[in-house]
Amino acid sequence: MAFWEELSLEQMNNEQWELLCDGCGKCCLNKVIDDDTEELYYTNAACHLLSHKTGSCDKYPERFKHVPQCTAITKDNIASLDWLPDSCSYRRLHMGKTLPSWHPLLTGSKAAMHQAGMSVKGKVVDERKIKYLEDHIVLWPLVSKD
Ligand code: SF4
Repeated sequence: MAFWEELSLEQMNNEQWELLCDGCGKCCLNKVIDDDTEELYYTNAACHLLSHKTGSCDKYPERFKHVPQCTAITKDNIASLDWLPDSCSYRRLHMGKTLPSWHPLLTGSKAAMHQAGMSVKGKVVDERKIKYLEDHIVLWPLVSKD
């Protein structure tokens, strides 16, 4: 049995926890919150540390040094991170689902994830190049496929 089916999130060690991340890059997109409705919207404006080719953080181990406001996803805060996309592995497991069929842990690479359109690859712009985040609201990060 695979470790993510056998263990709860709380029972996983650090290595297993890190392996769960599919590297989709969606959590590295800027979001905007509507002042009136408090609704959260994703944009296609990516953190400047995100590699647009791979969808991974270029400075993952030292990301907080460069982007102090980056959120670490942990066992302690996963329940409160309801802004994570439904496709996010941590969110899926927290919500009692299993990993999707395109997840790199199941397929051995990120190719199926990119093909399923579940990553940011080829769809984002560098946050430093945009003027108004509101002009960059997109819905595709909210799509989730099993
Ligand atoms: S959204 Fe979740 S699975 Fe995707 S890169 Fe972020 S933490 Fe990893």
